[in-house]
Amino acid sequence: VAGIYIHIPFCRVACHYCDFHFSVNRSREKEMTEALVQEIKSETEFFKDGNVETLYFGGGTPSLLEIQNLKPLFQALESNFSFTGAPEITLEANPDDVSKIKVKEWMDLGVNRISLGVQSFFEEDLKWMNRSHNAAQAESAVKILQDNGIENITLDLIYGYPLLTDGKWKSNLEKIQEFGIPHFSSYAMTVEDKTLMGKKVTKGEWPPMDEDQQANQFLFLRSWSLEAGIPGYEISNYARPGMESKHNSAYWSGKKYLGIGPSAHSYDGEKRRYNPGNNSQYIRQLEEGKLVREEEVLSSEQVLNEKIMTGLRLSRGLDLGALKLGEEMENRDKRLILTPEGMLLGDKISADLFF
Ligand code: SF4
Repeated sequence: VAGIYIHIPFCRVACHYCDFHFSVNRSREKEMTEALVQEIKSETEFFKDGNVETLYFGGGTPSLLEIQNLKPLFQALESNFSFTGAPEITLEANPDDVSKIKVKEWMDLGVNRISLGVQSFFEEDLKWMNRSHNAAQAESAVKILQDNGIENITLDLIYGYPLLTDGKWKSNLEKIQEFGIPHFSSYAMTVEDKTLMGKKVTKGEWPPMDEDQQANQFLFLRSWSLEAGIPGYEISNYARPGMESKHNSAYWSGKKYLGIGPSAHSYDGEKRRYNPGNNSQYIRQLEEGKLVREEEVLSSEQVLNEKIMTGLRLSRGLDLGALKLGEEMENRDKRLILTPEGMLLGDKISADLFF
């Protein structure tokens, strides 16, 4: 599976915990679109030997984009790449952007999967996170999507923050069942230095995250999801059988991917390259016809270490045969699989196994 990621770097408000690349100044949406189209046009050769099977619009908040700015991106992608018959096309949406009209516009463009940034179904949690939507909007967005033909929905839920009692965590997960959602992603809240939360925690104004709570809520998530028939196939990703994300699976199996947009990165099988993470710089460089990227050629050790790290995050585990250590016969069909408790120590275990 070869995939393209397009980063839409605008948000309505800044969530207190978020350190992705985005700007709340949306005045340059049109120029950004033009720059993204330029970058797409310059990458026609990236997948010269294969078809594109997944498209993923992430951010930032792609659902904020006006249709007149989203359409040219699809047109440029279609005329510059060849796609397989039924590509998976995902668009990240915030609940407050979801309306009947928007869903129709997205579907007309070919979007067939929506990743909905819910995070919690509780009002006080959403306020504390500074999310742009409220609890009622989170629920109604799911219904609008389902009533208008989008069944392939994935939700994001965060756990392990002070306001989230175990009871609330269970209730958030139960909404997945109630709505019949086929896929969700779930992450522990992390405190990043440059965010408002990071500053508050550093000053001692807000409490740090509680590691025991995070561990308990992760273990609950693993067992709940198994019982609910939406088992984890990766440490942070959960799906009903057959509904796993094709786009993410390609990253984890070390396939080529092309990242378009500010802060996006790409991997061509040998090197990884990083686009500038600044909107004005990105637009200016594309206007001048030269995008300045940082590049990193991966050593064979780095490639192996990444396989170890991603493999251990997968529920099917790390395929020792795929490490190609010259003893393939011996290792064939041997897998290293972490228990849920082991996953809590995953980074440390990976580091211990690194070459
Ligand atoms: S909407 Fe998403 S990308 Fe934007 S600030 Fe919030 S978490 Fe970050």
